[in-house]
Amino acid sequence: MKKINKAEEINVTRTLLPGLNEYIKQLKRIWKNNWITNHGPLTLELENKLKTYLSCPYLYFVSNGTVAIEIAARSLDLSGEIITTPFSYVATTSSIVWVGCKPRFVDIDCNTLNIDAGLIEKAINRNTSAILATHVYGNPCDVEKISKIAKKHGLKVIYDAAHSFGVKYKGKELVNFGDISTLSFHATKLFHTAEGGAVITQIKKTADRIAYSRNFGHKGQEDFWGLGINGKNSELHAAIGLCMLVSVKKHIKIRKVISELYNKHLKGTCLKTQQISKNTEYNYAYYPVIFRSEKQLLAVRKALNSEKIYPRRYFYPALNNLNYVEYRKCPVAEDIAGRILCLPLFPGLPVRSVTRICRIIKDNV
Ligand SMILES: *Cc1c(COP(=O)(O)O)cnc(C)c1O
Repeated sequence: MKKINKAEEINVTRTLLPGLNEYIKQLKRIWKNNWITNHGPLTLELENKLKTYLSCPYLYFVSNGTVAIEIAARSLDLSGEIITTPFSYVATTSSIVWVGCKPRFVDIDCNTLNIDAGLIEKAINRNTSAILATHVYGNPCDVEKISKIAKKHGLKVIYDAAHSFGVKYKGKELVNFGDISTLSFHATKLFHTAEGGAVITQIKKTADRIAYSRNFGHKGQEDFWGLGINGKNSELHAAIGLCMLVSVKKHIKIRKVISELYNKHLKGTCLKTQQISKNTEYNYAYYPVIFRSEKQLLAVRKALNSEKIYPRRYFYPALNNLNYVEYRKCPVAEDIAGRILCLPLFPGLPVRSVTRICRIIKDNV
């Protein structure tokens, strides 16, 4: 048997680092400024560039995508129950509990994998204050229907847009929907700052609230607007962001090519893929495949692992199973969570690796 060395390991994603010389250029600016955190010039520059890139009026760079959701919930004074999806990363649910609210799970649509907007109204009661939905793998939620329901019942809407960097819906940046959208700039995300995130809103009053919430509630040095947390990020992280932002468009294009290659090779198999919403300009952040059964998924994973290929069960398990929430049955989400696998997808993944991954899958389904 051919000996496989460690360098040939293929994971679901690979961290993209900025060019070291580019990063050093930014670091020199920081040293020259002698300013390393607290809304320094690089942070402001990154915020401005992101506002332009994402066409949004108010955007705040924060320490991560989880704090972003918590600041969003606090800034909208949410209390009681928040309607949410069981099919997301754990941070969506944990943030609700962390701010003292209760998640109320609504099942997902089996094709888009987003919260099933048709089931939301049934879950609303007099304690409901908001809807917190995830654009799963960057696929836009039914934003029109959700907005209509929210208006009718006087609810706030937060979108966990951690996967949605650069996605457009009906020609508009997806992060501009809802009262607030949050982004994650974690190293594994499409655009990253090592650790980081952003809180985005269209509403001036909410923006002011977000601004002081991420900075301990400060109003100048000796006064406070209200309750806050330390959600700031540093100049070192902003520097990575400034370097990475330059190549985002190129990276999305490469992801598209790899995704289409997967489509081509997996056509005709029993695997299902996510149905991307209409009128969407997608960012190809992930390549999830849905198997016929969990047993089939486990068999394929075993075959891939034996060739040092490590896809990820993402998202698994469904979040309504966490031990700190009230369980409510969500049959679709629980079923999909058991059968879905994200395949390796990152710029630099060789074509021959995609072919090899698809061959192993086809041999085992
Ligand atoms: C990554 C992610 C988060 C958390 O972001 P961090 O920056 O890692 O805190 C939240 N929600 C979703 C859907 C994510 O994928």
